[in-house]
Amino acid sequence: MSRMPQVSFEVFPPAPKAEERFWTTVSRLSALQPAYLSVTYGAGGSARDRSDRVLRRMRQQRGTVPAAHLTTVGASRAETDDLAKSWIEAGISHFVALRGDMPEMGDAFTPHPEGYAGAAELTEALKRLGAGHVSVGAYPEPHPDYRGGESDLVHLRCKFAAGADDAITQYVFEPEIFLRYRDRVTAAGIDAPVIAGIMPVFDFAKVSNFSRRCGASVPAWLEARFAPLADQPDAHHEAAVETAVSFCRRLQGEGVEGFHIYTLNRPELTIDICRDLGWASPAKLREAAA
Ligand SMILES: Cc1cc2nc3c(=O)[nH]c(=O)nc-3n(C[C@H](O)[C@H](O)[C@H](O)COP(=O)(O)OP(=O)(O)OC[C@H]3O[C@@H](n4cnc5c(N)ncnc54)[C@H](O)[C@@H]3O)c2cc1C
Repeated sequence: MSRMPQVSFEVFPPAPKAEERFWTTVSRLSALQPAYLSVTYGAGGSARDRSDRVLRRMRQQRGTVPAAHLTTVGASRAETDDLAKSWIEAGISHFVALRGDMPEMGDAFTPHPEGYAGAAELTEALKRLGAGHVSVGAYPEPHPDYRGGESDLVHLRCKFAAGADDAITQYVFEPEIFLRYRDRVTAAGIDAPVIAGIMPVFDFAKVSNFSRRCGASVPAWLEARFAPLADQPDAHHEAAVETAVSFCRRLQGEGVEGFHIYTLNRPELTIDICRDLGWASPAKLREAAA
């Protein structure tokens, strides 16, 4: 029997018209008592302000533990530090430190002239400013900026050397891809936790589009399973739960101890996945269902 893993969830700040539903989602997900609920970050005025508002309100909410994503994009070191300091002062101690992408899709990353050069520098700054825990990104499948050979692991090692506590992976659909990556990380002498990012297939067409853009491969069996269910929401939901559950079981069986679910602000799938994996007690599930 494997140990209960650490489970965390990711949400994104809602558009104004989805705000009310978002806070219900936060309450339902918090009822499952995840280690933390991380909030994605968008560089630039209104996206940044939305993350800021959501994080501060979450911090006030009993039973919700927020974690703040932060990127290096479009801001000087001083601006990034000011924002991070204000979150730390508000009681947010967990950060997910990311280099980020340019606002125009496909543009090569160029640091702000006075900004942090990448995730390692940002991690080092967050620790210096008093962040308690810093997670960073990791890529089992080649990131578009992968430079070949072991360069991705050399780069990951720099992020840990800068103070990162663990890494959360980009999602993959094949357990073997995650496990091979974990073996490479271990063989490179990195012994920090690698947390598996889980993307439930909430809508196959949308997930495959999104995967194409971020470099995650979509196996033929996934398409064969979900494409015929496009007009059958209940069957699609069941298949999405089963697919995520069997992926997580396989990883748990191989000793993976941390899972981070990209909820996409859809609580139902996450709740049912946690139920079937035995990651939430009946009392928590009743509360999350309300
Ligand atoms: C868990 C998670 C959460 C995320 N949340 C957000 C979010 O909230 N907002 C957002 O905008 N984006 C988010 N992203 C996306 C992320 O910003 C992009 O994937 C971005 O392109 C890479 O950021 P990073 O910090 O992971 O990059 P890095 O790990 O720094 O770089 C990505 C890859 O590029 C290569 N590379 C880069 N620099 C070097 C170097 N100096 N030497 C060698 N190789 C190098 C490596 O292969 C590396 O794995 C998230 C990604 C993950 C995995």
